[in-house]
Amino acid sequence: AYNRVLEIHKQHLSPVLTAYFSEPLLLHQGYMEWLFDYEGNRYLDFFSGIVTVSVGHCHPKVNAVAQKQLGRLWHTSAVFFHPPIHEYAEKLSALLPEPLKVIFLMNSGSEANDLAMLMARAHSNNTDIISFRGAYHGCSPYTLGLTNVGFYKMELPSGMGCQSTMCPDVFRGPWGGSHCRDSPVQTIRKCSCAPDCCQAKDQYIEQFKDTLNTSVAKSIAGFFAEPIQGVNGVVQYPKGFLKEAFELVREWGGVCIADEVQTGFGRLGSHFWGFQTHGVLPDIVTMAKGIGNGFPMAAVVTTPEIAKSLAKCLLHFNTFGGNPMACAIGSSVLEVIKEENLQENSQEVGTYMLLKFAKLRDEFEIVGDVRGKGLMIGIEMVKDKTSRQPLPREEVNQIHQDCKRMGLLIGRGGTFSQTFRIAPSMCITKPEVDFAVEVFRSALIQHME
Ligand code: PMP
Repeated sequence: AYNRVLEIHKQHLSPVLTAYFSEPLLLHQGYMEWLFDYEGNRYLDFFSGIVTVSVGHCHPKVNAVAQKQLGRLWHTSAVFFHPPIHEYAEKLSALLPEPLKVIFLMNSGSEANDLAMLMARAHSNNTDIISFRGAYHGCSPYTLGLTNVGFYKMELPSGMGCQSTMCPDVFRGPWGGSHCRDSPVQTIRKCSCAPDCCQAKDQYIEQFKDTLNTSVAKSIAGFFAEPIQGVNGVVQYPKGFLKEAFELVREWGGVCIADEVQTGFGRLGSHFWGFQTHGVLPDIVTMAKGIGNGFPMAAVVTTPEIAKSLAKCLLHFNTFGGNPMACAIGSSVLEVIKEENLQENSQEVGTYMLLKFAKLRDEFEIVGDVRGKGLMIGIEMVKDKTSRQPLPREEVNQIHQDCKRMGLLIGRGGTFSQTFRIAPSMCITKPEVDFAVEVFRSALIQHME
């Protein structure tokens, strides 16, 4: 049966859908932080379906709500009213600060960012959109112009989709690359207080200003930022950088958009939203992935003023956005996060995990950097700490594959796919972290032998 699946995949599914492993996993079932393949092998899921299964696979409460709604009403477009959408809108808006109170419901992160772009343009009457090098904001023709992770750009014909302006040297990231170029292998603990970080911030702000002054033709509609870059390999900004960047963009008449597709819903632990960790207030917030625990769902939240400016010039509509199934599930996800204290768990278990993985950096020359916040952690692999060159892809593949063989699933990111990404469901426990760290450590030991 396994070979048959591989054959069908090869013949009938798009060749861009490449699998992580040379022997892809054939998954059968999931329960909370665990996944099971067809042979009954169990895996600890430390990537949660690409940072999506926020409260656990087939969470009993979410399942029960979904089943109830399934028997009641699946679909009616948002031109008709139904209670789940209003219940959800009330619950979600309560979690955002004033004046972010108007919600558009969508189906995916790319779609949400597309709409945010439209809003920024409608509101500002400007055209240009800025994003960072290393950003990932989606794969639609519009958002592809904002997505600048190295491996996404390489083969694209220039001029495809919307052209965004990237800050030329800000957050290149890789090569042992945390944001501090002068000491790129330092730890997250050092990063939050070291003076060289502040220098890095000023340097980046200068580059950001140059971008605004020279290349944007004085027509800035919007600026997109992930509070922590996810696909780029969990890349963080120097303290205070985002705040200054937001101020500059506003001086130029643009609106600031926080892409919370990976960082939202409590994953970062200390705050419910990633933008709060930077002390900024965006004009538009986009969200997807964890919002529906795996059910296709997304949202754009903005101010009444910006929402009105979109309504002034456009009818905006999509068939499935805000459907009863998604809204009922979305509501139960919010309830579970609250009832089970999952944000607090992200904070506590995330801090524990960061410290445990950071120890491996001292133990292994090839662990260049361990960074992140809450349950969003990156482990950047290098040839050695002096050259800071990325560990060759085949070697990273081998470590990745060995973790899988020992029952641990983790993700990958960064231009050279050199950073392991860890983002489990928020119900994860400390003993499971211990297991994951031991597996990862064994994989590194095998690699060194
Ligand atoms: N923004 C961010 C930060 C993302 O990580 C992603 C998905 N990786 C997207 C947007 C796009 O979301 P989707 O795949 O649901 O279109």
